[in-house]
Amino acid sequence: MARDFYDILGISRNADQDEIKRSYRRLARKYHPDVNKDPGAEDTFKEINRAYEVLSEPEIRARYDRFGEAGVGAAGAGGYQDFGDMGGFADIFESFFSGFSGGQGQGGRRRGPTRGDDLRLDLRLDFKEAVFGGEKEIKISHLETCGTCTGSGAKPGTRPTTCGTCSGTGQVRRATRTPFGSFTQVSACPTCSGTGEVIENRCDVCGGSGQNQETKKLKITVPAGVDNGTRLRVSSEGDAGLRGGPAGDLYVYLFVAEDAAFKRDGINILSDLKISYLQAILGCTLTIDTVDGPEELEIPAGTQPGTVLTLENRGVPKLGNPVSRGDHLIMVQVDIPTRMKPEERELIEKLAEIRGEKVNRGGIEGFLGGLFRG
Ligand code: ZN
Repeated sequence: MARDFYDILGISRNADQDEIKRSYRRLARKYHPDVNKDPGAEDTFKEINRAYEVLSEPEIRARYDRFGEAGVGAAGAGGYQDFGDMGGFADIFESFFSGFSGGQGQGGRRRGPTRGDDLRLDLRLDFKEAVFGGEKEIKISHLETCGTCTGSGAKPGTRPTTCGTCSGTGQVRRATRTPFGSFTQVSACPTCSGTGEVIENRCDVCGGSGQNQETKKLKITVPAGVDNGTRLRVSSEGDAGLRGGPAGDLYVYLFVAEDAAFKRDGINILSDLKISYLQAILGCTLTIDTVDGPEELEIPAGTQPGTVLTLENRGVPKLGNPVSRGDHLIMVQVDIPTRMKPEERELIEKLAEIRGEKVNRGGIEGFLGGLFRG
């Protein structure tokens, strides 16, 4: 059943890391569920990610080469793949790896490098900003590695020393005797809080934490075609890592403001247009608003109420493939007048006569008469 990971990525067994990466990116773009709405696309996308997870790590790849999928297990590489440099500062790609991240780190010993936290920022966009994308300046507050102590937390010129309580292991063991037997309890060392090191002379700037909360302005590029709930990832702009660990990522969640004139239906834009009954009968050319500005719209003679007219290619650019755009769909409403000048009414009554149609006659009196008869 399981397909070969090299086949999935369309590469040979001796492909180098660059080739793997290139091929992976090409396929991930093609099958990303935001872009590709084909039924099997999401599964294919997951397959591609899984293959990349394994083949992009030389050690795991070697195991896969020798033992096949059994050699890499379900949790395989268990890491977080970085899409951050996919062509822009921010990227449209959600992480699909939450299900895989079983492998490393997490909860174990706390001494090693620790990845910084991911951060979330909510960003509101105008309707047209979401359609066309563009640069946005955002202000974030995140932890940065202290520049004074370069993250060690110790005063420049001094170094953290090995914790005497736990001898650097970061853990203390305590035997507890109970009527049921004795248990060994392992807990984080209270002296160094599990780091295995103590700082005697703390850095003045960060107070020993090795990090400072900094406010920063960032320019992010919002791709065309984003929608409510699209998440952009700005890699490495989350909190700084600890002890040389990588920084977390910043996730920008987008919220699109409603527009008075336009609504969105996926990549199509919807709007209403009210025309008079005469325009509906005789046809006309009207100038209407589109997201690209005023545009001429041909309304054919005999247009029925509720007719949907289409301006092709005036919709929303496809996310990830902005060359292709949706349409602008215009729902026509026909306005039937409730008040008319006497001479208008006369003309219409004449028209009814020509067509031999039974109608109420004689202005308001006829109308009232009609009501009482009814
Ligand atoms: Zn410091």
